[in-house]
Amino acid sequence: MPRAILLGSGTSNGIPTLGRAYPPEFLANPKNHRLRSSLMLMGPTGNLLVDCTPEMRLQVTGLGITDIEAVLVTHAHADHVMGMDDLRSLSLKTGQPVRVYTLEEHAQTIKEIFPYAFKEFPQGILVPRFDLQPVPERLQIGGMDITTFIVDHGKIRVTGLRVNRFAYITDVSRIPPAAREHLYDLDCLVLDACRYKPHPNHFNMEQALEAAAEIGARQTYFTHLSDDFDHDKVNMDLPPGVELAYDGLSIEI
Ligand SMILES: [Zn+2]
Repeated sequence: MPRAILLGSGTSNGIPTLGRAYPPEFLANPKNHRLRSSLMLMGPTGNLLVDCTPEMRLQVTGLGITDIEAVLVTHAHADHVMGMDDLRSLSLKTGQPVRVYTLEEHAQTIKEIFPYAFKEFPQGILVPRFDLQPVPERLQIGGMDITTFIVDHGKIRVTGLRVNRFAYITDVSRIPPAAREHLYDLDCLVLDACRYKPHPNHFNMEQALEAAAEIGARQTYFTHLSDDFDHDKVNMDLPPGVELAYDGLSIEI
């Protein structure tokens, strides 16, 4: 049975956030410690990593995963790409560039952030190598049949995905009708709910609850969470079938 593992559930600065003090009760709950949001899809024959956070190496090695068939970068904001340099050890192992699916505009940003990954180097100099590919509507990775769709994140486009009856939508401020068509009959939806106050580029809690109710997955988990949310306290107030995600959450798909 394929699995989806949330490698991180935090908003862009990670929780606890550098430079901010927290009550001991908040820090005492491990579920309030949130690495940057990303996902591992583990199929019968291989794994797809969705986004490369600054903590990617720790997130992936912590699961004991040693092989990644491909990477899907939903968009090129820092919290989703800054771990890509560490993919170099996979290229070294396989002798191949790492296949990275991303939208054209995000491929451009990746080239600007990691120019050295696309330059010639003398033998023996270890740099990451990326085989950047456009995101197809259907992807076969690791024996999984993955469908992709586009959502809006402020003014930029973000890739969402569906596998079987599971869907993952990080960083979203609007789900266009074409994406909605993929969001039917879901057992599980993982959805951005950044904070309580409105945000120009993210669903806040109110918008996320509204979207979750409209989509009607049997279980919805909110992700990309700020420190507005004290995990256990907030969960008590959420409607049935809606919960905050947490790092390491593992879902059979
Ligand atoms: Zn973003």
